[in-house]
Amino acid sequence: MVRPLHMATTFERDPDGAYSRGFSYARAGQPTRNDLEETLADLEGGIGCAAFASGMAAATAVFQSLSAGDHVLIGDDVYHGVRRLLADVLDRWDLRYGEVDTRDVQAVRDAWEEKTALLWAETPSNPMLRISDVEALAEAVHAEGGLLVVDSTWNTPLLQRPLTQGADLVVHSTTKYLSGHSDVVGGAVITREETSLFERICTYQEASGPVADPFSCWLTLRGIRSLPARIERHERSARAVAEFLAGHEKVTDVYYPGLPDHPGHEIANRQMDGFGGMCSFRIDGDRADAMSVVGNAEIFTRATSLGGTESLIEHRASMETPPTSTPENLIRLSIGQEDPDDLIEDLEQALELIAET
Ligand SMILES: *Cc1c(COP(=O)(O)O)cnc(C)c1O
Repeated sequence: MVRPLHMATTFERDPDGAYSRGFSYARAGQPTRNDLEETLADLEGGIGCAAFASGMAAATAVFQSLSAGDHVLIGDDVYHGVRRLLADVLDRWDLRYGEVDTRDVQAVRDAWEEKTALLWAETPSNPMLRISDVEALAEAVHAEGGLLVVDSTWNTPLLQRPLTQGADLVVHSTTKYLSGHSDVVGGAVITREETSLFERICTYQEASGPVADPFSCWLTLRGIRSLPARIERHERSARAVAEFLAGHEKVTDVYYPGLPDHPGHEIANRQMDGFGGMCSFRIDGDRADAMSVVGNAEIFTRATSLGGTESLIEHRASMETPPTSTPENLIRLSIGQEDPDDLIEDLEQALELIAET
């Protein structure tokens, strides 16, 4: 029932020098990583996957498989680490980038340059939970002769499968929902078809070596087995929390695509199989008030990251690499597996205390 955890770094050759068992050296490939790569490719509806040591290693693999002088477009509300990677690391290798609101397909086309190789999009975005139309983006990007990459970390293949909606590559931080227990750091790139870019990503994986280690792969496969049950509860509780927050007098905005008045609700309803376990909200107050709400939480843990069994609460702007456009009164929640009534009660008392300060 459970595939073994293979820890070997090296594999015996046949007397004639062949590798008839398929493996030679673990950086190039090994059985447990193979299991994870095949599973993720299957779940996303792709034909290949490369697993990495972190989500950012996966992102780096995509960008470093382009060429110096190339240009990429990223969404203007993507995971802050992607912007940091491009601004602080890859600009020294002459990979240029621009930001664009991926909700606006015409804006993407207008921002496209001759050397633009790909668009990197996140839907829902992080931390504003903006929804972009993947099919429309894929059509526009392909018309420009480029590729669409979707960072689908917040969705997992259970909520959205961008490759079936026209995206060329899907990227995951498996650190989050896929492993699901806040005890693994990992990443993956999955491809819809055989492309020269994906071939270069595989070459990069082997040649530069930021591979997912076997135990992390094994734990991620273990996490994936309970993904359907976990996602269902993350989602049901997130919806209840979002509805509670939407009715609270000290909350000015709630960002959760499952709420009918969310501007992206209709698109999300069409392209997703659920709205996920992440929710952000803004309070009627400033940075200090937001910090105090976070500080008053008792069941939520004050920590970054997401997708684990424990609910997390975060003052997001102070976590992101500056400069950030994340509002100072915004709080980001990752809804875990606890009883949603307890989570709501916790937020209620934390918001209550803010009035007295
Ligand atoms: C966490 C995260 C990443 C980075 O992944 P790591 O595993 O931390 O390197 C990238 N994209 C999104 C959407 C994330 O949430």
